[in-house]
Amino acid sequence: MFLLVASLLQLVQIAAAARDSHWTYEGPHGQDHWPASYPDCGGGSQSPIDIRTDGVVFDPALAPLQPEGYDRPGPEPLVLKNNGHTVQLSLPSTLRLGGLPVTYAAAQLHLHWGQPGQPGGAEHRIDGRASAAELHVVHYDSDTYGSLQEAAPQPLGLAVLGVLIEVGDGDNEAYEHILSHLQEIRRRGEETEVEPFDVSGLLPPDLGAYYRYNGSLTTPPCYQSVLWTLTRHPVQLSPGQLERLQLVLFSTGDEDPGPPLPLVHNFRDPQPLNSRRVTASFPDEGSYSIGKRAALGLGVLAGAGALVVALLFVVGKIRRKRREDPKSVVFTSSRRTNA
Ligand SMILES: [Zn+2]
Repeated sequence: MFLLVASLLQLVQIAAAARDSHWTYEGPHGQDHWPASYPDCGGGSQSPIDIRTDGVVFDPALAPLQPEGYDRPGPEPLVLKNNGHTVQLSLPSTLRLGGLPVTYAAAQLHLHWGQPGQPGGAEHRIDGRASAAELHVVHYDSDTYGSLQEAAPQPLGLAVLGVLIEVGDGDNEAYEHILSHLQEIRRRGEETEVEPFDVSGLLPPDLGAYYRYNGSLTTPPCYQSVLWTLTRHPVQLSPGQLERLQLVLFSTGDEDPGPPLPLVHNFRDPQPLNSRRVTASFPDEGSYSIGKRAALGLGVLAGAGALVVALLFVVGKIRRKRREDPKSVVFTSSRRTNA
């Protein structure tokens, strides 16, 4: 009897865990409902954020990022998986992100994207602008913790490197190491093996320029344990590559009822910055973003315009005065005559 009750209890717990672990980006389990099941998602230091560049502070102490071992991730194949929320590539802990206060070892990387025909897809924004997609390379503090799971809930236990992805002309060969395998993992739960490749090829060449802030995982359980780094420079995919990312995968698996659902729009809305500060490794030379440059240009134009209007006003006033009060002209000319 006791055993029966115990196993029934266990079943109830498993069912509850399964229900809790179900989350989506929209609908009844969408991001607005995450805090009900995952309290941290309602916290004050959440990610992603919209980086407003006029509030960013230059920190000259921020050293260039140094990916170590990214170019040679060992002889073993890497596992690429469709987990229903994203496509995720497991990384060996021999890959490390140097240039941070402690050693952070890599665990996995994954992508966020939008849907065909709609702008946006990245999680972080710069001055309100959203790129087409975003790469996240997830690391954990390997000086202090033995695994990603152990480090994930701990303060600054994780370091995520974010890279914005834009659409350009040519194919990005490095991303083909991932994109060429999507057909093998169309359904949730499916995984495949990828030959080791130079993972640093997924990053922009200039790793000296980046934004830094303290935030969270952008998916449940939204632990506020992430030292965030977002590179200043994006990378580019071709339109065809982005389309494959948006069209090939399903968020549903074999056991799900109904037709397969496309795995699209897997990005979270920007979260309030609150009292946090965003720093940058590069000085603001009026160039934290294109948006800021444009704003500066508009400001200069507006200033010049105001000056012209003021000059026209003064000239007009002088002319009017001369017409209304001819004596002043006579007086002026008489003075001139007297002189
Ligand atoms: Zn992510």
